[in-house]
Amino acid sequence: MALIQCPGCNKRMSDTMAECPHCHFKIAGLDEEGRHEEIRRIAAAKRDKLMSQSMLALLIAIAAFTYYFVQQPLPKSMPANIAYALMVIGVVWFVVNRIRLMLIKRDLKR
Ligand SMILES: [Zn+2]
Repeated sequence: MALIQCPGCNKRMSDTMAECPHCHFKIAGLDEEGRHEEIRRIAAAKRDKLMSQSMLALLIAIAAFTYYFVQQPLPKSMPANIAYALMVIGVVWFVVNRIRLMLIKRDLKR
């Protein structure tokens, strides 16, 4: 018996159960190989989504950064505050996505 990650909701469940106790994803019909495939497939789809999200986050940060230095809005003015906020949001979002990507890649290697 081992703990596996449910392909449906990513919560931990025992591999001896017929279905996930959290989301009722049925894994009974799948053999070891099939389950592993299903888990990898879902993790890969999630990784792709996170990749495009981190790209978007980076783009927002770069756009705000570029605006700030090209337009040079007055400090503490509304455009300056918005550009600054977008830079912070973009960078934070990017870092969060990279961390989540690292966790998924670790799962994919198992
Ligand atoms: Zn589940």
